[in-house]
Amino acid sequence: MIEPPAPEQADHVRACAQCAEAVARTERVLAEFGGAYRDWGSRQMRLAHANAKAPRALLWLRSALAATALAAVAIGIPVSRHIQQEHQRAAQIAIEDDALLTQIQADVSRSVPVSMKPLAELTAPSIHGSAE
Ligand SMILES: [Zn+2]
Repeated sequence: MIEPPAPEQADHVRACAQCAEAVARTERVLAEFGGAYRDWGSRQMRLAHANAKAPRALLWLRSALAATALAAVAIGIPVSRHIQQEHQRAAQIAIEDDALLTQIQADVSRSVPVSMKPLAELTAPSIHGSAE
């Protein structure tokens, strides 16, 4: 009924407290729902056998199974979305790191580090003089 999660999702839920909590919460609801649904379903099935109301019981069973499937999807969607957000954030951080690194490299190549400045002034007095 409930499809096993994709390996990436399972890994993510293990590592992510936020998603683990969401899954645990939904599992608790499903467990409560499952117990109630089994009780009600078996009672309805007994009644159905006695009173020939099978179509109604089956209808309920179908909607219960649909609700379970929906709940499984409801867990899967936020986890997938969170994984996607994490990917986007990682990509964003990578872009920012790149930009920072590029800026640092530009700064380094453009100017002499402060600690080296006196040396640069000593070795290149003409450049220093024209720049002032
Ligand atoms: Zn997460």
